[in-house]
Amino acid sequence: MVLAAFFTCPKYFLTKEDPQRHTFRLFLAALTLSEVKLKVLILLLGYCLWGQGPLEAQVKPSSPRDRTQVNRRMSREVKPRNVILMIGDGMGLAQITAGMYANGNRIALEKFPVVGLVKTASARDLITDSAAGATAYACGQKTYNRAIAVDTNRRPLRTILELLEEEGYSTGLIATSSITDATPAAFYAHQPDRKMQEEIANDMLKVRVEVFAGGGRRYFEARSDGRNLLEAFRIMGYDVYTDWRQALGSRADRLVCLAAEDGLPRVSEGRGPFLPEFTVKSLEILNRNPKGFFLMVEGSQIDWGGHANDDQYIISEMLDFNDAIENVLDFAMKDGQTLVVVTADHETGGFGLTKGNLKGENIGGEFVTKDHTFCMVPVFAYGPGADKFSGIMENTEIYHRIRKLLKL
Ligand code: MG
Ligand code: ZN
Repeated sequence: MVLAAFFTCPKYFLTKEDPQRHTFRLFLAALTLSEVKLKVLILLLGYCLWGQGPLEAQVKPSSPRDRTQVNRRMSREVKPRNVILMIGDGMGLAQITAGMYANGNRIALEKFPVVGLVKTASARDLITDSAAGATAYACGQKTYNRAIAVDTNRRPLRTILELLEEEGYSTGLIATSSITDATPAAFYAHQPDRKMQEEIANDMLKVRVEVFAGGGRRYFEARSDGRNLLEAFRIMGYDVYTDWRQALGSRADRLVCLAAEDGLPRVSEGRGPFLPEFTVKSLEILNRNPKGFFLMVEGSQIDWGGHANDDQYIISEMLDFNDAIENVLDFAMKDGQTLVVVTADHETGGFGLTKGNLKGENIGGEFVTKDHTFCMVPVFAYGPGADKFSGIMENTEIYHRIRKLLKL
């Protein structure tokens, strides 16, 4: 009897919850009692334990701080239902910092309880491009620059999006570049070179992605083979739009929106809140699947601002991406079952922050290159399993850790 009671006791040592401390005192008292009284007490103890239910159920989120604590506790114990991977293309620490100070010293990434650093080198080069960078996240393998979800021998690698589609998840892709551009492409296409955008568009037909939105219409309907892939998507039951504001009103379960011939306009040139609003629209569609979903959201043009050595371009795209992150966090906080991972494929421009003041005016800096750099980039995680994304890791680890958390 004493032994049986003893087996339940480590739980009381490990917890600071008041009712349980109370039952532990009861247990100590029991050690001095007769065997009959002891039996009754053990039954009572068992009832207390059983009646209290799992630990997570006892914590009711009431404030963002409480939610973070729930999040931390759940992160050790619960498999995420949904995964949202957000990639700021070319988003190094300087790009984030510039956006934060230009935004009055505030950024959604501050709400993430877990931060890590990612090594971005590709299979053959210290400096990766977005194709090899996205392939590492989509497939868990380093490859050569320009490769779209193929290995160094040009053999196709199954992507996490394809794997989750097969497992019955819903999936979505959103970018402010062409949807056939390297970052989104590496999640659904398999091509030896990123410039093969018509072939990449054709690969989209083979994966039943529920929602995809961005630019790149020309690779679907003004093709050298004369086919109109948008018509094919209509036949497959998708709602197809070329105006993203109209697409927000769609009630379909499968949605395509290609809002530009190639990349979308800059946010500073009238793109509007496409990225934050379409992210919310995708979540509404994808969340209809009880099995769960995988969504990749790319802030594509932070990189383009870096290539242009244009600090204001970087900052405006960074803040647009920040609005999308804010919307994703709102969803994830309410949902409680969604892992959110925000990272970058590489840094662009060798951006160094040297200009501005504490009022957040004229924030900017200088650049050391028009190309990418191999500086580590940050990763931020929120939700069940978030704690797996701390420390320094190779880019391929993001894939492996997500996959392990999903038990696949
Ligand atoms: Mg990109
Ligand atoms: Zn780039």
